Amino acid sequence: MTSAAATARAVREGSVSALSVVEEALARVGQRNDQLNVFLHVDRPGALAAARRVDEAVARGEDPGPLAGVPLALKDNLCQTGVPTTAGSKILAQWRPPYSATVVERVVAAGAIVIGKTNLDEFAMGSSTENSAFGPTRNPLDPTRVPGGSSGGSAAAVAAGMVPISLGSDTGGSIRQPAALCGVVGVKPTYGSVSRYGLIAFASSLDQIGPLATNVTDAALLLEVIAGHDPRDSTSLPEGSPALMAHLDDGVAGVRVARVRELIEGADDDVVAAVDAAAAALRDGGAIVDDVSIPELRLGLSAYYLIAPAEASSNLARYDGVRYGLRVSGDDVGAMYEATRSAGFGAEVKRRIMLGTYALSAGYYDAYYGQALKVRTEMIGAFRRAYARADVLLGATAPSVAFALGARAQTPLAMYLSDVFTIPTNLAGDAAVSIPFGVGEGGMPVGVQLLGPGRSEAGLLAAGRVLERARGDS
Ligand code: GLN
Repeated sequence: MTSAAATARAVREGSVSALSVVEEALARVGQRNDQLNVFLHVDRPGALAAARRVDEAVARGEDPGPLAGVPLALKDNLCQTGVPTTAGSKILAQWRPPYSATVVERVVAAGAIVIGKTNLDEFAMGSSTENSAFGPTRNPLDPTRVPGGSSGGSAAAVAAGMVPISLGSDTGGSIRQPAALCGVVGVKPTYGSVSRYGLIAFASSLDQIGPLATNVTDAALLLEVIAGHDPRDSTSLPEGSPALMAHLDDGVAGVRVARVRELIEGADDDVVAAVDAAAAALRDGGAIVDDVSIPELRLGLSAYYLIAPAEASSNLARYDGVRYGLRVSGDDVGAMYEATRSAGFGAEVKRRIMLGTYALSAGYYDAYYGQALKVRTEMIGAFRRAYARADVLLGATAPSVAFALGARAQTPLAMYLSDVFTIPTNLAGDAAVSIPFGVGEGGMPVGVQLLGPGRSEAGLLAAGRVLERARGDS
């Protein structure tokens, strides 16, 4: 598939029309969406109209922007005015947002063409996209396997060649893990660097929107467009968008890379082999590669499964049958709430609401939520100490390649362990990327993870480019 960068260049020059690019993308969606269930909603008229506007701007001699005519998919927890936005839940099945997320406004202003909304685990809770109320998405590389999750639809849309770039959200790994399982690039930006305004909240202290793409350059291009301060998100960092494209070819000469034992242990042999090969490739590129142990990272999963459900139980209290979406009537208001929430939420969302409510309840707050916050502080300190000695940490993104549909669906803990290597970064608020590197069992792709401190995206993407080159790509 033509890269986003090349498409934008051709559209801006006037050598290719945005309309033809978008028609091709829609045709590819039409060919495989029934089989893969990637898109929950395809906005054909909206996409064609937007493409015509881009072509008209080019004809007038204007520059439609750095993503001119590039087809893009949105995870269906990102609001777009008037377009169905479900978060993968029955409770929002009929809902159309009255406003657009800041990231949606920014990609549209940059000339991108939104093709539609992609499938996800309900409210982004899951690692396989099987928790969607609208059926699972299948991995385009092997439809008997999951695409990962929760941004499984956005990863699959890119992997299937339907669109070159997409947006996902990452609370505990939901961009990086599906990127790894589908063989695409995924970036979890620094907390606060991309506005969360218009992202349907799961766990607000962890949620972050980021790009998925077939290659590092396109991921950088999209991240530059969506990042930067937004007064509508109170956690938005004051800085503007970081310069990423300018540093893509900085290389890794003299960069200190530390391979982290806790971000590899327990992974399958094929995954460990890919991380070893990535370490060698970075060393060949001039990096100084060491091995470190950061034992605190082992506490990440436990702390996350208190903090994230606690925040979710609070965030999801708003779905009460009054303000949004579904209402199931009852004899009084209490019965109406109960009937609405019982019918509207799926099993995993209910499990998280119960876990979170318990962890926050009087008498248990200190023992569970309070303890988890202390662990989080310990982890932030541990990362800070690690980054005093290393510029980049290296590990696996996920413990295995894409697993079979149904393999982990009945065992929540097995599913939760899919994110054991990605969750620590979210707790620290730092940046991380997943880069496809090698193949494992069944010929499925393996993702390696590069982690850095807050605001290190430029360095991580430059290191990602080194891996991409080592893999034999240009
Ligand atoms: N899989 C993790 C969870 O279920 C992370 C999800 C995410 O990052 N949105 O919570």
